[in-house]
Amino acid sequence: MTISLISPGRYVQGEGALKDLGKYLESFGKKALVVASGSGLKAWGEELKAGLKDKEYVIDNFGGKECSQIQINRLVELGKQEAVDFVIGFGGGKPIDTAKAVAHKLGNIPVVIIPTIAATDAPTSALSVIYTEEGVYEAVWTFPNNPNLVLVDTGIIAKSPARFLVAGMGDALATKFEAEANFQANNDTNAGAKATVTARTLANLCYEILLEYGPMAKAAVEEGIVTPALEQVVEANVLLSGLGFENNGVAGAHAMHDGFTVLEDVHGYYHGEKVGFCTIAQLVMEGRPAELIEEVINFNYTVGLPITLAQIGVTEDIPAKIKKVSESVPDYVHNEPFEVTAKKIYDAILGADALGRRFLEQ
Ligand SMILES: [Zn+2]
Repeated sequence: MTISLISPGRYVQGEGALKDLGKYLESFGKKALVVASGSGLKAWGEELKAGLKDKEYVIDNFGGKECSQIQINRLVELGKQEAVDFVIGFGGGKPIDTAKAVAHKLGNIPVVIIPTIAATDAPTSALSVIYTEEGVYEAVWTFPNNPNLVLVDTGIIAKSPARFLVAGMGDALATKFEAEANFQANNDTNAGAKATVTARTLANLCYEILLEYGPMAKAAVEEGIVTPALEQVVEANVLLSGLGFENNGVAGAHAMHDGFTVLEDVHGYYHGEKVGFCTIAQLVMEGRPAELIEEVINFNYTVGLPITLAQIGVTEDIPAKIKKVSESVPDYVHNEPFEVTAKKIYDAILGADALGRRFLEQ
């Protein structure tokens, strides 16, 4: 049996870390293509430019576009025209995933990821989730290498809307349970072999940090301040969740999330919010003990993650819509250690919703 673990070349986190960016870029070449979210650029563009020091750069204001093949091709052309040496993804999940795909298509040139929100575990991984221009899940692209550098300035994260940090906790919440499903099924991970003890331990630690520090971290972001609780939750959302999912595997929660993207109703909700709800559905499908499911529902409720379908925008024609979702989950739902059918998924989602509604009625 072979085990393997993959990770970014370097992870840097701290308040004010962006000002030190230049010192980590030494070996990456002269010129950067920066794929930046509009809001990130507006709020932190000057700090980013200062951090780049003597590097040349061309900045693409990515706005709120999707990580789609059309956008990737457009930026690959720009990168070629500008003869860039490396790519920087600056902002949320979409510019980050786009930057990774663009760097890959430019010949696996170095890629630097600077998240301005801690809403997903996208920054550290060697993959991008590709959507259509309309925001419907299309595919996962995997790359030979993880980002060369992931730099998280917690001073920036602290000033972002609390809803993003909470969404990141929802994404991180699934990590431990998806790891357990994959381990039970003895699956290979994204690292191409069996999971390490290290990776399983990281997934457990991720969950422990969320339960212990999640509510305090949310309070810190609401006040725009950096506390040790926020530092720990940012590390859980970005590093532990990222290493955890990639080195253990994803399963029911993410597969159901991807199924939900076929519903227009949920498009106003973030990835992590939907994954947070789908984590409960995965646990219901797995027949986990009430005590554990109650712990997760209680956590979601406390930090403001959804526990019902209504809280992710699904309020009418529920049976027909969830039937459609259950038939749209990608194949990796079979990473679960038992036979999964559309009927089981349907019942699990409605089962999770039922528990959430009863919790709210208490
Ligand atoms: Zn995720």
